Amino acid sequence: MAIPGSGLAKGLAVTLRTMTKRSVTAQYPQAQPDLAPRTRGVIALFEENCTVCMLCARECPDWCIYIDSHKETVPAAAAGGRERSRNVLDRFAIDFSLCMYCGICIEVCPFDALFWSPEFEYAETDILDLTHERDKLRDWMWTVPAPPALDPAAEEPKEIAAARKSAQKTLAARAEAPAEPGESAEPGGPGGPGGPGESGGPGEGQA
Ligand code: SF4
Ligand code: SF4
Repeated sequence: MAIPGSGLAKGLAVTLRTMTKRSVTAQYPQAQPDLAPRTRGVIALFEENCTVCMLCARECPDWCIYIDSHKETVPAAAAGGRERSRNVLDRFAIDFSLCMYCGICIEVCPFDALFWSPEFEYAETDILDLTHERDKLRDWMWTVPAPPALDPAAEEPKEIAAARKSAQKTLAARAEAPAEPGESAEPGGPGGPGGPGESGGPGEGQA
């Protein structure tokens, strides 16, 4: 049989215990929360990597990614070569009022153009203002944390190995070529390594 008043005593004991503990309430916005580095705050776009392949928009379960583009003709890299066409991004927007932060778009992007940013301060009073365009998505790239460092014992990633090999090949070819008077080799310039005239650049050959 319960002693009369024991329930009240138990309740007061809980109250006393709680009163003597340190408060865990975060004083936001005066104090910023300490977020985990992989927090899913917002999606950032690195538009230089986007080839307008449309995979993200097709795979998004909420259909909240809007992409517009047009095709552009790239002249042949060498005389007698074939012209190429490439996609040029005109619009990239995400409606965050529909997005469910599943991360599928980021997972499926084959060109590393989408990233999670921990930024979360983009609340709006009008739901229509939650559709954010490419400039805003691009700005959020600056808030994306750096990826964790590679394991020193891990194999070199194939992309880095391929880039290093290609850079070494270019340097060796340049060292062997006799310098012509008035010639200036511009790395990354038109027709140069990585320049727009070289085949295989993002967005090329997708006609
Ligand atoms: S996180 Fe999911 S819902 Fe949001 S835009 Fe990407 S795929 Fe669509
Ligand atoms: S999947 Fe990546 S590269 Fe393709 S359209 Fe989307 S962001 Fe651009």
